[in-house]
Amino acid sequence: MSWDDEHATRTYSECEMLVKCGFFEKHGHTNEPACHALIQLYCRGPKIDACKRRGYKQRHGYMPSDDLMPDGTMLGQKSA
Ligand code: SF4
Repeated sequence: MSWDDEHATRTYSECEMLVKCGFFEKHGHTNEPACHALIQLYCRGPKIDACKRRGYKQRHGYMPSDDLMPDGTMLGQKSA
């Protein structure tokens, strides 16, 4: 099996913080395409470990604002 085949068929586990993540709680069931895409990419996808919310929790010991998105931008702000 090639690297591409393996990654195309790999299923990713969910973030263990789903049940207590304010971002997911607020936006996890939205039909907003941008939030949906982030959740598929981070919360249930290959970039779980790159989630800025997870990094924040590890550094500070508590979760950031519910509006900090997994990619590090704040809802309502445009990314640079
Ligand atoms: S936003 Fe980050 S911390 Fe929250 S559920 Fe998704 S991956 Fe986990």
